[in-house]
Amino acid sequence: TLRLETVGISKQYGNVRANQGIGLSVRAGEIHAVLGENGAGKSTLMKIIYGAVQPDAGELRWNGQPVRIKSPAQARALGISMVYQHFSLFDTLTAAENVWLGLDKSLSLAEVTTRIRELAGQYGLEVDPLRPVHTLSVGERQRVEIVRALLTGPQLLILDEPTSVLTPQAVDKLFVTLRRLAEQGCAILYISHKLDEIRALCTHCTVLRAGKVSGEVDPRTQSSAE
Ligand code: ADP
Ligand code: ADP
Repeated sequence: TLRLETVGISKQYGNVRANQGIGLSVRAGEIHAVLGENGAGKSTLMKIIYGAVQPDAGELRWNGQPVRIKSPAQARALGISMVYQHFSLFDTLTAAENVWLGLDKSLSLAEVTTRIRELAGQYGLEVDPLRPVHTLSVGERQRVEIVRALLTGPQLLILDEPTSVLTPQAVDKLFVTLRRLAEQGCAILYISHKLDEIRALCTHCTVLRAGKVSGEVDPRTQSSAE
């Protein structure tokens, strides 16, 4: 079962030290929150794990072995999927067409449509693959993005502030899906600055402050004071 570690990860933009020696470890079955205020370095760390940004120093370890992840495509091939904060679907295309476009084209559109239906059923995600994206609600769009992320069979799923645009009902549905994924052995990194959500959902929580790990808390026993 998966264990991903970041060891001494540092990244500087100009004179902004976005990540300063970050060490974090996430395992299969964990819903691991990364909590921190705006600018704390959360997105930078996730982009490094996803291969979208290269660190200046430090390394990633995949089951104890050092890995270099040079691109998001390489991250996906390794078993890492990302659900972005900003939606990235084409409005005029259907959900299935969008998902198909994001893959390496080894599946046909018909096969992708079938896989979406299977995954949607398996994870309780209400998604109609044949509807154009412009007819979907924000929550439905996010479910399409989640299905896209799941289609490559990730061992690690990263979500960056996934609830910022969702209704409370959509948040509930998202949490049901994430719990089911974790139970099935997926490791989940959950980026958020909402302590109440983290307490409701997460099994672990690493707190970032000004580019450093300022502590780890057990979200199930954490009081609301932060
Ligand atoms: P968070 O996700 O916790 O809000 P970020 O990782 O996005 O934090 O940002 C950490 C710091 O790095 C911030 O000061 C931010 O302005 C800066 N930063 C992030 N990305 C870039 C970039 N591409 N260019 C310059 N500065 C950046
Ligand atoms: P940001 O830091 O806005 O503020 P991100 O690095 O999170 O930018 O994402 C950059 C953009 O790349 C996203 O807003 C999205 O439009 C696009 N994108 C991200 N992930 C995918 C994906 N898996 N497939 C297609 N497009 C994507």
